[in-house]
Amino acid sequence: MNKIVIAIDGHSSCGKSTMAKELAKQIGYTYIDSGAMYRTVALYCIQKGLFVGNKLNLDALKQQMNAIHTTFIPNPTTGKSDTYLNGKNVESEIRSMAVAEKVSQVAAVGFVREALVRQQQALGTEKGIVMDGRDIGTVVFPDAELKIFVTASPEIRTQRRLEELIAKNEPTSFEAVLHNLTERDRIDSTRKDGPLKQASDAIVLDNSNLTIAEQNQQMLALFQSKMG
Ligand code: C5P
Repeated sequence: MNKIVIAIDGHSSCGKSTMAKELAKQIGYTYIDSGAMYRTVALYCIQKGLFVGNKLNLDALKQQMNAIHTTFIPNPTTGKSDTYLNGKNVESEIRSMAVAEKVSQVAAVGFVREALVRQQQALGTEKGIVMDGRDIGTVVFPDAELKIFVTASPEIRTQRRLEELIAKNEPTSFEAVLHNLTERDRIDSTRKDGPLKQASDAIVLDNSNLTIAEQNQQMLALFQSKMG
């Protein structure tokens, strides 16, 4: 059977990218992390001083949008792709709390979404991709053959994210991470353009009580049943 497009959406830090990456690897598809693209734009805004306190300079960002180039380059050491901003590896920086605190504000800007959605659609023209994000099954690929909406309880998501940050030596607290997740989900779900919501034809997967092996197995089973 021909290759398909797999859209994985869901709440912040529910393990979408881990699941999407593993599925892509197993079935020989390309994985694309759309969140990394929004994070890169947010990092650019921070680096260029486009935030004054909490206020984002939209005019300046609009003028500079064409100067922001995000690329994904395979890293032979990890076997995964790293995210680059204008030729510089920013894989670690885009996962920091500083970026997490600003990214949803940047992702709510209409012209930012327009530009990134266009780039994401271009990456999917050949199909054979697994893309994760918030609006992949609703806006980017409304005709995706397989749509999965992932969720997990806020406490479990917080604990998982906290462990990642601690492993990276980024000191933070359970409360700070929980607040960041809930706030991102709130902004992502209530924005005008491409809000986070379950597509009507998406399959819901709550992984609160699943091990990584179990969730990978479920994803693979969904793919296999779709492909008959
Ligand atoms: O997936 P990740 O948590 O890395 O995404 C970071 C942020 O990027 C999200 O909280 C959301 O604000 C934004 N995002 C989005 N649309 C997508 C992917 C991510 O708005 N398709």
